[in-house]
Amino acid sequence: MIVDFFNNMAKKIALFSDKAPISKEAKTRLQHYVIFLVLGFPTMVLFGLYSFYKGNTTLALIILPSALALLAGIFIIRSLKDGTWVYRINAIVYMSLLTYMIMIGGEDGSKALWSFTWPLISCFLFGYIEGSLWSILLLVVTLIAYNSPIAQLVERYNYSPDFQIRFLIIYGMCVVLSSWFEYSRAFYRQESHQRNLRLDREHIKLKKEIEARQALQEQLITTAKIDSLTGILNRGAFWESAELEWEKHQRFSDTLSFAILDIDHFKRINDTFGHPAGDEVIRQVVNSTLKGIRTFDIIGRIGGEEFAIIMLKTSSNDAKKIAKRICKKIGTESIKYQNESIKCTVSCGIYSTANNQHSLDSIYQKADQALYLAKRTGRNQVVAEH
Ligand code: GH3
Ligand code: MG
Ligand code: MG
Repeated sequence: MIVDFFNNMAKKIALFSDKAPISKEAKTRLQHYVIFLVLGFPTMVLFGLYSFYKGNTTLALIILPSALALLAGIFIIRSLKDGTWVYRINAIVYMSLLTYMIMIGGEDGSKALWSFTWPLISCFLFGYIEGSLWSILLLVVTLIAYNSPIAQLVERYNYSPDFQIRFLIIYGMCVVLSSWFEYSRAFYRQESHQRNLRLDREHIKLKKEIEARQALQEQLITTAKIDSLTGILNRGAFWESAELEWEKHQRFSDTLSFAILDIDHFKRINDTFGHPAGDEVIRQVVNSTLKGIRTFDIIGRIGGEEFAIIMLKTSSNDAKKIAKRICKKIGTESIKYQNESIKCTVSCGIYSTANNQHSLDSIYQKADQALYLAKRTGRNQVVAEH
């Protein structure tokens, strides 16, 4: 139950500072300050009221406003980007209170004992260097005040030399230990911060590497599927896509046309103009074909100068019209390569189906037979097999 109470408290304190529009460092510092006040404020209020009750009105009138000033500090710091000066003002308030307490001493000089809280609090709030300086400053200020005319204004407590020596030794130990704890805490915090930064960097590096690898993999997959000369699907990828489309066709029994297009007497073009010119002819024939079909039709290079096209949702008549248009365009336009103007024609065999009675392979065979017929009966023409 006590653990739950502290857990809840820690969560509330973290939430309080998390909402402030300040840096992470400043949030941690604010959390320290809040913890100090969660313990210190009620204690100071109780102590102030007790002083009233005991008739020590002066002390009560010093403690209670100090407690309120320290509490107000929280809200001021929370709204500031850099609250360092507020911490310092509050440090002066608390330190003045402690100086006053040491001066008046109380019963058996016991009020002086409150000053042992100061090294802890100052190191906690200002870090081990500034914190130690604040701790030493309390001693210096107290010594000056104790021996100055101001001391006449208050009832100065007469400490025995033994008390003074013991007080100084214990206070010194508190300063050393507090600054040492704060130093190690800051050291480990810095180390874990560095480690987190390193981990973050590694994480970003790994993420980038994974992304680069994924991009490379995608590029490799694309390269493996695309014919480098024409940019359309290569033989393997065409049949892969064809299988997928064929499955859909089998399920929905859509009309589908399969066309094979082959450049006529291509060997002669190669022989006459050279292999690079032949390559250009292949590229241009593909370009003209691509312009004639729709983007969702599937086209692939299935041989050196032979291309297969699957025209989706296309009847035999429509496929014939499309193929004829393509053949005519290729046959009438000449292809420019360097200083040469090359004429070429293509032949096309088509087979269309509107049911799911066939296999993909048999459709291909039929289209190939139609192409064979187109070649045998004069080339530069479209033949549709029925
Ligand atoms: P047909 O009208 O009967 O189709 O005759 P063809 O000469 O077009 O057919 P054939 O199969 O006899 O010759 C095809 C030629 O295509 C043979 C081969 O050297 C050539 N070829 C294959 N791939 C390429 C290529 O990528 N670039 C070039 N320039 N030529 C190629
Ligand atoms: Mg040919
Ligand atoms: Mg051929």
